[in-house]
Amino acid sequence: MERQLEELRKQFLDDLEHIHKSEDIDPLRIQYLGRKGRLTAVLRQMGSLSAEERPRMGALSNELKAFMEQSLVAKAAALSTAQAATGIDVTLPGRVLRRGTIHVINQVMEEIQDIFRNLGFAVASGPEVEDDYHNFEALNMPANHPARDMQDTFYFSKGILLRTHTSPVQIRVMESQGIPVRIIAPGKVYRCDFDITHSPMFHQVEGLWVEQGITFAHLKGVLYEFARKCFGPDIPLRFRSSFFPFTEPSAEVDMGCIICNGSGCRVCGNTGWLEILGCGMVDPEVYRFVGIDPETVTGFAFGMGVERIAMIKYGIDDIRLFYDSDLRFLGQFA
Ligand SMILES: [Zn+2]
Repeated sequence: MERQLEELRKQFLDDLEHIHKSEDIDPLRIQYLGRKGRLTAVLRQMGSLSAEERPRMGALSNELKAFMEQSLVAKAAALSTAQAATGIDVTLPGRVLRRGTIHVINQVMEEIQDIFRNLGFAVASGPEVEDDYHNFEALNMPANHPARDMQDTFYFSKGILLRTHTSPVQIRVMESQGIPVRIIAPGKVYRCDFDITHSPMFHQVEGLWVEQGITFAHLKGVLYEFARKCFGPDIPLRFRSSFFPFTEPSAEVDMGCIICNGSGCRVCGNTGWLEILGCGMVDPEVYRFVGIDPETVTGFAFGMGVERIAMIKYGIDDIRLFYDSDLRFLGQFA
């Protein structure tokens, strides 16, 4: 019987050696240690042993049983570790990396800048934290001027504020480089205003062309060219007289509604027209503030809201969508 146990141990080790999958462990356990297993069969013979032999054989078989159980547990652990290490399914599709997109406002801003660059405009910039002088006074809006009520302003302290338009850049450029000037000034502006068409921070592009002999015809030509490039070659424009403190005469520019083609819809309020920007000939008073003789030059200025242009271009009806960081919305403009 001792020889039988020794033989069983050898066979067990040999079988164990040939196991490479964890699902084969259990059948091996049953084959040796099950109720009808091979070790069990040997143990059945215990009854035929003499009383002196029996304790020694009992100890030997128990030792073999324990050895088999430990070996099976160790083998199972080794196999599961190996499978975890190499168990990569190379046929699974790879993880998709989300690619970022340029924000639609930046895209539209770039497009506007490109159009004006091609018309010979340089790009200028100025501070977002402005002083009262550049934001209001030098633009012909002295303290207590009623036009200041048109804009609700964020003030830091007396005389320092968040610029309410990009127009102070006009003043800064004329102060520093004199004339001629042909610039656009894109950037962030701030007003105390928040609803579906207004945001406390939004973007403007301001334009200024001052030189000898500039007329309203130049203004119209430049803005027609802009509208055609931005919205399509056959887009109609109309100029409505308006008022801005820093231009005289002033106009607001409407564009034929691109949603209903002028027949009237909800977006254009059934007028067939959409307001896109404000403009005018620079008021002679403004030249005096920057030390230029108003008798020697003429020029025009215009300003537009980038969000408004983007909303019209893409049919977006709520300005807050631009700032909600919703990837489902932003991803549409990839
Ligand atoms: Zn319409």
